[in-house]
Amino acid sequence: MPEAPKTSSKLPENYNYNLQEKNAKALEFIEDVTANADEVQKRVLAEILSSNANVEYLKRHGLNGHTDRDTFKKVIPVITYEDIQPDIKRIANGDTSQILCSKPISEFLTSSGTSGGERKLMPTIEEEMGRRSLLYSLLMPVMSQFVPGLEKGKGMYFLFIKSEAKTPGGLVARPVLTAYYKSSHFRNRPYDPYTNYTSPNEAILCPDSYQSMYSQLLCGLCQNKEVLRVGAVFASGFIRAIRFLEKHWRVLCNDVRTGNLNPQITDPAVRDAVGKILQPDPKLADFIESECSKESWQGIITRLWPNTKYVDVIVTGTMSQYIPTLDYYSNGLPLVCTMYASSECYFGVNLNPLYEPCEVSYTLIPTMAYFEFLPVNRSNNSINGVTNNSKEHLELVNLADVKLGQEYELVVTTYAGLYRYRVGDVLRVAGFKNKAPQFSFICRKNVVLSIDADKTDEVELQNAVKNAVNHLVPFDANVSEYTSYANTTTIPGHYVLYWEMSLKGSTPIPPSVFEDCCLTIEESLNSVYRQGRVSDKSIGPLEIKIVEAGTFDKLMDYAISRGASINQYKTPRCVKFAPIVELLNSRVEAEYFSPKCPKWVPGHKQWCNHD
Ligand code: AMP
Repeated sequence: MPEAPKTSSKLPENYNYNLQEKNAKALEFIEDVTANADEVQKRVLAEILSSNANVEYLKRHGLNGHTDRDTFKKVIPVITYEDIQPDIKRIANGDTSQILCSKPISEFLTSSGTSGGERKLMPTIEEEMGRRSLLYSLLMPVMSQFVPGLEKGKGMYFLFIKSEAKTPGGLVARPVLTAYYKSSHFRNRPYDPYTNYTSPNEAILCPDSYQSMYSQLLCGLCQNKEVLRVGAVFASGFIRAIRFLEKHWRVLCNDVRTGNLNPQITDPAVRDAVGKILQPDPKLADFIESECSKESWQGIITRLWPNTKYVDVIVTGTMSQYIPTLDYYSNGLPLVCTMYASSECYFGVNLNPLYEPCEVSYTLIPTMAYFEFLPVNRSNNSINGVTNNSKEHLELVNLADVKLGQEYELVVTTYAGLYRYRVGDVLRVAGFKNKAPQFSFICRKNVVLSIDADKTDEVELQNAVKNAVNHLVPFDANVSEYTSYANTTTIPGHYVLYWEMSLKGSTPIPPSVFEDCCLTIEESLNSVYRQGRVSDKSIGPLEIKIVEAGTFDKLMDYAISRGASINQYKTPRCVKFAPIVELLNSRVEAEYFSPKCPKWVPGHKQWCNHD
């Protein structure tokens, strides 16, 4: 593997020229594919359909080798995960025939979206990694138009791998980023000043999350002056790193002072890699100590990494709840959302990365997949409630034909064998780059609660509450009303449920019963939530707050005073609006937390015997 030079003085002489040339090429590519969005999309669809002409799925629907849009739209149904689950199951169980794709399925990418409480499995093929890498390669050329000189320093990015499992048929199932970081595209990347990170690959690839985080922070601290940008994938992950620093800065400081790595870091590859960066530096240790021991941590990012120009994290969608915290820690540095992607497919890039988070839009790159758009109307009184327009078989719109201001649900056809698959994201057309639309991310359909990668919908929440309420039966008690709130003021954030009780029995309910209710809710939630609690520790214990009788009437009065219709009023199953949260909090009588972590094991429940 080509070794990345340690300092900029060792850069090849012509690197600057090469860099400019590479940047120009990337921008030219964006110009080209966006100017010809419709033609590119036609070509992409034809490529996908001709290479997969003989797969079982397309034959089953009678496509008969056609590769044109009209026939495709006429015969291939618009689907959700549940529709292809039987096909996915066959592949997972070891059927290697051409079911969805003519190319061998190389692995499954486990989506943070769930079906039946388990992560969705997205098939992928070897060549998809190249397509994903291409999207990554566009990000810095775009960024460098707005922030020059980024090639002169490093990026401090907190990147992690997660556990993986094997399907009964022997395919690996893991999150897309784990697959990417472990791939040669990432590990053996040729030297590029734009992928020059403070974290050694070994630290990123360390499966132990404590050791990984510790060593990445330590390396970031050791190279603090070289850092020009900081980030993580999602805002929640970046905040977790700051929290870790708050807890562990004394030990980290000691390592910087002595040049000896904390013996708790036992992974030999990590020790080796960190050893190449860590030098005794008492002056730096004094500096870190003086900054971290100050009472206020406001602006800690700019204090410890003084040359940082921006924070690169996704803060669109549910992650926007973290903006105030990030602003606080970074003293208002620009928050940059560079891309929009998923396990199914990488979608697009933000061509104006310095726009405020609320102004961010993503330009879908037409070569990534074939995109269609299902018009949606969101009903105003259901939070995140999305209804499709009345007719069942509404015409899906092509990428080049979407209308400014209209909202759509994204539907993709991928090279890896998803055909007209509803991703579940609602997007709004915010503008155009040449002929390609730019979308702001509106919401994930039906999701009510999210702290990190978890996405809990109303039905899951309802079932979880129903299960928990069983604990109250012996006390002749019930939950008459409930709502929920994603509390991200704690680090990590946690789910809060507000319960109004209806009590018929006279025996008081002991706190342990409510704690059992908390745990039962957690046990009933999907595996992504439980993984966040158990393995990633990115979600804190669930809390139930008991509110006074009459609280939910007050909530209704409030909604009606703000214009809600009394006939149509439904208790929101999730609240976000600060005055409503305040109203609920002002009437809390008791609070209970989940006493321990719920159960979670990697992989799907039904595979456990095979692991
Ligand atoms: P996963 O398949 O688990 O990687 O999750 C992909 C989902 O994360 C997408 O479908 C979106 O709902 C969400 N997501 C990804 N990128 C962004 C972004 N830039 N802004 C908002 N949400 C995003």
